[in-house]
Amino acid sequence: MTKLTLRSLGGAGTVTGSKHLLELGGRRVLVDCGLFQGLKALREQNWAPLPIDPASIDVVILTHAHLDHCGYLPKLVREGFRGDIVCSAATADLAEIIMMDSAKIQESDADFANRHGFSKHKPALPLYGKHDAEKAIDRLKPIGFDVPTDLGHGLQLTLRYAGHIIGAAIAEVRWGGKTIVFSGDLGRYGDPITPDPAAVARADYLLVESTYGDRRHEAVAPGEALQAIIERTTARGGTVVIPAFAVGRAQELLYHLSQLKAAGRLPLTPVYLDSPMAIDASDLLCRHGGDHKLDADTCRKSCAVATYTRDVEDSKRLSANRMPKVIISASGMATGGRVLHHLKAYGPDARNTILFSGYQAAGTRGQALIGGAREVKIHGQWIPIRAEVANLPMLSAHADVDEILRWLSGFERPPTRTFIVHGEAGGPIGLKARIEQDLGWSCTISAQDEAYVLS
Ligand SMILES: [Zn+2]
Repeated sequence: MTKLTLRSLGGAGTVTGSKHLLELGGRRVLVDCGLFQGLKALREQNWAPLPIDPASIDVVILTHAHLDHCGYLPKLVREGFRGDIVCSAATADLAEIIMMDSAKIQESDADFANRHGFSKHKPALPLYGKHDAEKAIDRLKPIGFDVPTDLGHGLQLTLRYAGHIIGAAIAEVRWGGKTIVFSGDLGRYGDPITPDPAAVARADYLLVESTYGDRRHEAVAPGEALQAIIERTTARGGTVVIPAFAVGRAQELLYHLSQLKAAGRLPLTPVYLDSPMAIDASDLLCRHGGDHKLDADTCRKSCAVATYTRDVEDSKRLSANRMPKVIISASGMATGGRVLHHLKAYGPDARNTILFSGYQAAGTRGQALIGGAREVKIHGQWIPIRAEVANLPMLSAHADVDEILRWLSGFERPPTRTFIVHGEAGGPIGLKARIEQDLGWSCTISAQDEAYVLS
């Protein structure tokens, strides 16, 4: 008898590297294919071969376009994957932007390391390049939301809105007579931009994320908190540097800033969006009007609140210009990208503020700074941090524990088995305790590489 098995090759016991493999009768489906980020021991897994041959995977389902869910695709394709990568239309557009940007960062980091000689690898090579990303982009196959789609091999997929970021989906998979639901990353209820996570009525097997499985978001209006931080920083002549996920968070910040400006608050503070990827993602938001809550006019006004800097020279000028201002720049956990140059320029001065705007994974500079680190290593050099370090966790794109429970309560009956994934430290343990206590479902915290026989 053919068995349906589940095995997580990443995104289990960690919030990055999501890769969940379903196998049935010799066929393989991979749900998400993300990069590991953060701790060195995790990042090194990006370089190790996958425990299965990429050519043996028949199809990839992509829940959303964040790098920790799609960033390994160029390597998967380079190593022999030849199937379709199925996702929503907005995710396909965003994944293209994100994979090309990631390839560019991989190439320029390798180049920078070679020129400055601080890598122990000689020569330092990129994990993948732009050419590999282009090949992965060619395999993207967009489908609509809420329409069951036949993917071959007896496999049926329905995407439901997950909120989180534009295009993000909950994947409802029918295979071998069973329904397996992957929550993907769940968004927040009542977010001004993204839709609420869609209720799912039934699942035989469920994988649910647990990023905030042990935490509740503060009930503070993000606009108010943002205004207070910007006002006190500019009053002392400082600049607010916001490391932000280029996709999702940057647009949410622009929305809140444009609302503040429209209300006559922060009238004089210039805002810069210094990330070509975030600029592209903002344009995309206006193109996919049906996938979010903003009307066309609000969307246009939100995007227009900032001065965009695409050019590297403009970005450098921004680092050198000491007028009080707000700079939004990627990456969100300060693991790479242009924001590192701004941290080098603004971090050592106590008048400035470094403002984080969401979850900071273990091992990232973001987590170190929020944890009180007063120096961080950037481009091989220790940079002293005297700037104020603040955080707006309520701007997170992830549901907190109460919101995850609210989504789970939409199921008509308990799944046969519930697996907790995509969490680290207390997240999965906290969520397991809450599910058992509130819903009475038994659940398993998935371990990486462990195969679970479902049926
Ligand atoms: Zn995500």
